[in-house]
Amino acid sequence: MIFKQLFDTKSSTYTYLISSGKSREALIIDPVIENVNEYISLLEELDLKLVKVIDTHIHADHVTGASELKNITKCSTIMGAHTPAELVEIKVKDDEYIDVDNLKIRALYTPGHTSDSYSFLMNNHLFTGDTLLINGTGRTDFQNGCSKSAYNSLFNKILKLPEETFVYPGHDYNGKKVSTIGTEKKFNPRLQVNSIDEYVDIMSNLNLSKPKMIESNVSRNIKLGSN
Ligand code: FE
Repeated sequence: MIFKQLFDTKSSTYTYLISSGKSREALIIDPVIENVNEYISLLEELDLKLVKVIDTHIHADHVTGASELKNITKCSTIMGAHTPAELVEIKVKDDEYIDVDNLKIRALYTPGHTSDSYSFLMNNHLFTGDTLLINGTGRTDFQNGCSKSAYNSLFNKILKLPEETFVYPGHDYNGKKVSTIGTEKKFNPRLQVNSIDEYVDIMSNLNLSKPKMIESNVSRNIKLGSN
């Protein structure tokens, strides 16, 4: 398997490039528009053909490279069925599988950070977008975010996966690259709660400032990054 975790320094976003390496077909999860040339060079270097690109949700802090990658490579664009992005070609439902080469990627509907947030499970690799971060969880204070749904997505879905499942988040602001479900269950401060109300309480008191350019990022992302 070919697996690359790429980092966008401006937005601290992780982008993932994956291929089984057999038929040279590749998938990218959460591309950032400014880094599209880097992805194209990497695909060429690895002799891979990009066939699918997934966005885990409509991002507020960066613009997706999905549209641009589609223009260059003719790849298909994928998001979860709850996305407001009408241009998305393949909308996957909860528990539906995406095939790339010999790889099977299971879509999991995990709303909370946004109402359209999905996570994606490939064998024991879980791509959590902003649903579960390392030592944190995605904020729930805009884009139809809801801390009750986030609690359910976390405690009744994601954390029920085997403890050894690797967690690959959509962002990290402290240089951490990967964790496991077991480690997050034990040490993630947001997950040390005894009730949904306790979680809602934590999330309502974060007092975070809004991401820069949230309005223009969201409106561009609804068009998959095109102008
Ligand atoms: Fe996000």
